[in-house]
Amino acid sequence: LAQLFRPLDMLGMVYRTIRQGLIDMAAMFKLMDTAIEVRDAPGAPALVVHRPSVVFDNVTFGYEPERTILRGLSFEVPAGNHVAIVGPSGAGKSTIARLIFRFYDPQSGRILIDGQDISTVTQASLRAALGIVPQDSVLFNDTIGYNIGYGRHGASQQEIEDAARAAALMPLIDRLPQHFDTEVGERGLKLSGGEKQRVAIARTLVKNPPILLLDEATSALDTRTEQDILATLHRVAENRTSLSIAHRLSTIAESDRIFVLNDGRLAEQGTHTELLRHDGLYAEMWARQQAENDAIEQAAE
Ligand code: ADP
Ligand code: MG
Repeated sequence: LAQLFRPLDMLGMVYRTIRQGLIDMAAMFKLMDTAIEVRDAPGAPALVVHRPSVVFDNVTFGYEPERTILRGLSFEVPAGNHVAIVGPSGAGKSTIARLIFRFYDPQSGRILIDGQDISTVTQASLRAALGIVPQDSVLFNDTIGYNIGYGRHGASQQEIEDAARAAALMPLIDRLPQHFDTEVGERGLKLSGGEKQRVAIARTLVKNPPILLLDEATSALDTRTEQDILATLHRVAENRTSLSIAHRLSTIAESDRIFVLNDGRLAEQGTHTELLRHDGLYAEMWARQQAENDAIEQAAE
């Protein structure tokens, strides 16, 4: 197992970025492919997704052998459902997303997508089924069109434009000097956090995956931008299965089901209303955030 961590040391910088949340995983995997020990089994078949359900079956995982992060975690996301994962910082929420991407394998237990153990299928087919909108989207030093089309190899200009429109990017792109051909990223035009999130959403739309993972996709944005982007995300998620990791509970109250993670275990689950009635950890978190909102509103008056 120690061997599994050694190559990662060399990628400390990359690694620390991952710890902040899930950055662009596809780009990351390109970098990590040579370093990581998660490999396709010989002759592994492709994942075939008809009904995109996600199941955690008694999953135990730790990054280091002496420190368990997820402790026998089991939950089910039925195909087409929109679920949220909430819980205190450090509870293991992003770890769940990383395991679904098979960035790591669990120490025990299984993760199933549409009934198939993800450790038995090719990683390429697994990642093709997953779309992610991370907290901090990373843009390539290339054109905005390239950054959107990157979602799927061979995407047409029409598909890129449709995605940009759906992600509410057109007002921005119309303003850019070379429109879709404008260079963005570190060496080009710097986009705001909200604009980068929209690019990530557009990229995901082009990819058109059956399963969406949103890891605090909007937590860094101001409330108004967040409302706009959430509206887009809800539209995007409509015909898919989605898992949203959320800090601000008001953004996930409408979920079909909410999983409350605490210390690597499922502490509570239910709808928003059920969880409030249950009067446990979720209700406490909700009350605390409501009080914070009230304080902010009062301060603004
Ligand atoms: P959350 O998203 O709920 O805030 P994470 O899933 O990111 O929590 O992290 C759960 C725990 O695992 C934290 O204690 C965190 O410090 C630890 N952790 C996260 N990533 C790594 C890593 N790459 N190596 C070692 N520990 C990690
Ligand atoms: Mg996290």
